[in-house]
Amino acid sequence: MAGRLLLRAYRAAPQLRSSVLTRPLLRSATTVRGIPTDEEQATGLERRTLQAFKQGKDPYSILKPKHYAGTKEDPHIVPCIGTKRLVGCLCEEDNTAIVWFWLHEGEAQRCPSCGSHYKLIHHELPH
Ligand SMILES: [Zn+2]
Repeated sequence: MAGRLLLRAYRAAPQLRSSVLTRPLLRSATTVRGIPTDEEQATGLERRTLQAFKQGKDPYSILKPKHYAGTKEDPHIVPCIGTKRLVGCLCEEDNTAIVWFWLHEGEAQRCPSCGSHYKLIHHELPH
């Protein structure tokens, strides 16, 4: 019954017909853009992180750390907010024991067991 009344009103009033036709067009125009990307809908901390990624930064250490050779020329980089940090070295791949030692700011230090080089780099927290 209500459907018939709407159909009659639609046929009777040309203004209503034009408004009915424009509504779906407007609605479809808004959905043409599709689903918003992560960058478009991100807010807060996620937005700041995505903006930092655009600049090539990783302030929250989200990405996989870079592989270092551990030599004197390419030491393992250890980020730190202070002046020293406790480092654990798995000297060999299948080792079950971890060698712990304090790494201090300054020149690169060697692991007392295997001799890999580690260097402390000062790291600022983003907030
Ligand atoms: Zn080691």
